[in-house]
Amino acid sequence: MKHIAPVLLTLQLLSSAANARLNVVATTPDIASIARVIGDDKIELTTLAKPTEDPHFVDAKPSFIVKLNHADVLIEGGAGLEAGWLPALLDQSRNEKLASGAPGRIACSQGVRLLEVPASLDRAKGDIHSAGNPHYLADPVNAKVVAQHIAESLCLLDPKSAATFQGNLSQFNTEIDNKLAGWKKTLAPFQGRELAAYHNSWLYFGECFELKIDLFLEPKPGIPPTPAHLGQIIKKMKAMHVNTVIVDPYLNRKTAETVARNTGATVVDVTQFPGGVKGTEGGYIQMMNQTVNLLAESLIKKN
Ligand SMILES: [Zn+2]
Repeated sequence: MKHIAPVLLTLQLLSSAANARLNVVATTPDIASIARVIGDDKIELTTLAKPTEDPHFVDAKPSFIVKLNHADVLIEGGAGLEAGWLPALLDQSRNEKLASGAPGRIACSQGVRLLEVPASLDRAKGDIHSAGNPHYLADPVNAKVVAQHIAESLCLLDPKSAATFQGNLSQFNTEIDNKLAGWKKTLAPFQGRELAAYHNSWLYFGECFELKIDLFLEPKPGIPPTPAHLGQIIKKMKAMHVNTVIVDPYLNRKTAETVARNTGATVVDVTQFPGGVKGTEGGYIQMMNQTVNLLAESLIKKN
């Protein structure tokens, strides 16, 4: 008996090393949804932000420090999206694998063509998009860029699973390409139309589908609406016959309803995070599908 126990222990250690899956933490549910598709059962995945939480202002729970401490990989949006809450958590997690520039740190904004990048950084005015607009995953073409970045990074970290990651990537790309053609067709009748949004998080969606989503209830990203600013927006919406106000689940729907009441527009509940609104729990592609359909339904109405 004396000799069996160490042998068993060694075997257990060997088998756990052979089956070890990468422990991946994703900051937001959109990134997590793509990581899940690519990593499938080869990764352990934890998401920090809830789908109903503002990605700029995530409630930084102490449990996140433990999750980050145990992680092999951190996938973040980057471009300043998590600047208000992630750096302090990372400092406290003391995990060298997630250090900036380490193979375990995946900043999805790398490789994405960011829009609205200012000539100089200035957070003094309260603009939380001071490094450019970080909501690039609202464009399905960028979802492919991010999927590729995640797949390449996971291949380096776990070469024995590379074939799985690459196969999943090519399946995801094919599915996006197939769906994108249909989505473009659905929104084609509304090309050039103006929409109002609470927060400037739909810029890339607008670029992709040729919609102008540039009237915002917030005077600046992250600054709450003021009566004077809303008055101006209502005036512009009336003048331009804007019939749709889009609002993300973590923003103040009542404000959007007030604007809609004053303009004859319709409030449309949309999300960039799977599970953020009902019917989007199935992942990125289902969520995008619902967004396209809801906007088409709203834009066709007369006001
Ligand atoms: Zn934002």
